[in-house]
Amino acid sequence: MMVSRPTAATRESDPAAPPAGAGEYVEVLKRFWGYESLRPLQAEAIRAGVEQRDSLVVMPTGGGKSVCYQIPPIISNRLDVIVSPLIALMKDQVDGLRQCGYPAAAINSSMSMGERNEVEAAAARGQLRLLFVSPEKLMTPRFLDWVDQLGVRTFAIDEAHCISHWGHDFRPEYRELRALKERFTGASLHAFTATATQRVREDIIAQLGLETPNVLIGRFDRPNLVYRVVPRVRAAGQVDDVLQRHKRQAAIVYCITRKESEGMADSLKKLGHRVAAYHAGMTPDERRRVQDGFSAEKIDVVTATVAFGMGIDRSDVRCVIHSAMPKSVEHYQQETGRAGRDGLEAECVLLYSAADAMKWELLITKSVLESGAPPEVMVGYIELLNHMRRYATLAKCRHRMLSEYFGQRYERPECGACDVCLEEQQGLEDASIVAQKILSCVYRVGQSFGAVHIADVLRGADSDGIRRHGHERVSTFGLLKDFDQKTLVSLTFQLLDQGLLTRSMGERPVLSLNQESWRVLRGEQKVSLNIPRTAPVSKTKQEEDAWRDVDAGLFEHLREWRRELAGQRGVPAFVVLGDSTLRHLARVRPSSIDALAAVPGMGERKLKDFGGALLAVLDAFCAQHGLTRDAESEDAASRPQRRPRPLPDNVREMFKAGLTVEGVMQRTGRAESTVWNYLTAYVEQERPKDVARWIPPDRYRRVTDAVREAGSARLKPIFEHLSGEVTYNEIRIVLSHARPGSVAS
Ligand code: ADP
Ligand code: ZN
Repeated sequence: MMVSRPTAATRESDPAAPPAGAGEYVEVLKRFWGYESLRPLQAEAIRAGVEQRDSLVVMPTGGGKSVCYQIPPIISNRLDVIVSPLIALMKDQVDGLRQCGYPAAAINSSMSMGERNEVEAAAARGQLRLLFVSPEKLMTPRFLDWVDQLGVRTFAIDEAHCISHWGHDFRPEYRELRALKERFTGASLHAFTATATQRVREDIIAQLGLETPNVLIGRFDRPNLVYRVVPRVRAAGQVDDVLQRHKRQAAIVYCITRKESEGMADSLKKLGHRVAAYHAGMTPDERRRVQDGFSAEKIDVVTATVAFGMGIDRSDVRCVIHSAMPKSVEHYQQETGRAGRDGLEAECVLLYSAADAMKWELLITKSVLESGAPPEVMVGYIELLNHMRRYATLAKCRHRMLSEYFGQRYERPECGACDVCLEEQQGLEDASIVAQKILSCVYRVGQSFGAVHIADVLRGADSDGIRRHGHERVSTFGLLKDFDQKTLVSLTFQLLDQGLLTRSMGERPVLSLNQESWRVLRGEQKVSLNIPRTAPVSKTKQEEDAWRDVDAGLFEHLREWRRELAGQRGVPAFVVLGDSTLRHLARVRPSSIDALAAVPGMGERKLKDFGGALLAVLDAFCAQHGLTRDAESEDAASRPQRRPRPLPDNVREMFKAGLTVEGVMQRTGRAESTVWNYLTAYVEQERPKDVARWIPPDRYRRVTDAVREAGSARLKPIFEHLSGEVTYNEIRIVLSHARPGSVAS
């Protein structure tokens, strides 16, 4: 496993020394984006920008890097430049910011002279806070002079891994950025990336010439994603199975080759999906059309090669399917990272076959040989490939494997959000016997045929190939009649993956037995095999929570309204309002502007622009469908409670005498949760000087630190900020104790 150790200046998202003064940042966050609290590390990353100290921020996709460079120029009243690799993406970002009333603009080669003049004039008048530009544009002498005159001294570099050969997306034009530090003495650079390896990190710091940068590394786990690995039998059908769970929602299906992405699109179209292919072989115009259609929610599913990814920013992708295994865990993380960027639940399914690894091995060998690169390069690639293969074949928690791969410990015993922990993998009951039958068939046909032929013999197929070789007469003919061809091939590939069978790479791949095969045949080794299925899976707890109390009809109605508004404004739908905001609206159904303002994602500008219209939509729909208004939100638990909590006198005395929660439980026979409630009441009413008896001082401090860092004194943000390592009960006690009067319930 690749372990990337943090360097001395590095901080992982474990709160230890949070910066003070995050309150001002939260105010800006609330004003423009309507969010209540900062996520882990955001405050520190913003602080680096405000104080103009070089920084490198590594956060997974969807972690919230953007506000880290968007908030500092607002706080400091200045213009910053943000370097971004893709023009298509810039436009969406600027559109999104303008919807929030944030003064941003982009300058790129696709703009007309007039548009450009307008931006330049606005910048000169001091009306802009953020300017998006591509690296090649920025590094032209004319542009450098211009931003110099404007007084720009802070540069943010998005997708900074593009500067490194070791990243997965090297771009030579990024190399030019190294001149920035010389051209602007005293300027600060702030690099942002989702790529985690130590090598890439070091490379970014060296290439950009960052000086004692603050290195901030976020948690790589994405708890809102459900990961599944399924043996592939018939890709299109299995993809369709998964898509059925996300009807009319955004989905990406990754394919290895252009041809496959087109074939997949055709198959899915026939099955009734609104789908388009996307790959590097298409013209820029064609690609733009697909991106626009996807943004405008006219296309739900994109079948894509890796070319698709950085160009899309839709935050409500509910499902990412890999129709084959990618060639490294880095790629897998990057691509699945497109799912659920809005923080809502999303599903990532990998359809895997051992053939994928073999295909990659061939492709890698070929390209390395052709490029004349030294053999170590090939060894490196094969190593990456083997990590990915292990991910696909081990029955180990997917969240844990991904975290550990990126050098982070995974604290929870199980995730509740992967096929392994959800126990969805369906084992074949008599796997050892089936394995023996497959292996003896390989032997009977002389160890000179591939998996499909073996499958045909075993299922007793009446085919030319079988008759030509007289294989209808071998003893294993028709021995596994109950399985179809695809399943048998999948089972055979699973044996290959486990090393219980060998496949030689000749002109055509041929299966043969090895020592391990013989051990299975002699009954010395048990085998386990999985039945390939895309599950009929039940919903995870998280999925259920995410939809709890949401009126689905209203949610769809609001989506429709959002699509229309986006169309009028010529912007992608998701920049009008995110899905999580729509769900919140469909759950709470606010009846006034004030109630609307409390909905996460409703910033000041949006409230002003369409708050009234939105209320009218809610009024009409709720009246028509008899829905109540101002329902309790899911955060009801973290609102102040008005009635005093009950606290029996004898319990009060017990706490006064210093009894622990457990002690009180034993004495009173009450449940743990009840006793914690008593303790909260005790702390509120008696205001003891310290609570060290119940909350150890170090845990106490973690909570108060988190309050500062998250800029919120509400239970849920703090709980999440601490990655669930401090319980709700403990947090509640600390909050009651630290700030009597504003007690969370
Ligand atoms: P990244 O650039 O790291 O992939 P983004 O900056 O696009 O991620 O953020 C992902 C999503 O999270 C966006 O929808 C963004 O508005 C949202 N977001 C960012 N910060 C916060 C926050 N503090 N609270 C709630 N949502 C946030
Ligand atoms: Zn798991």
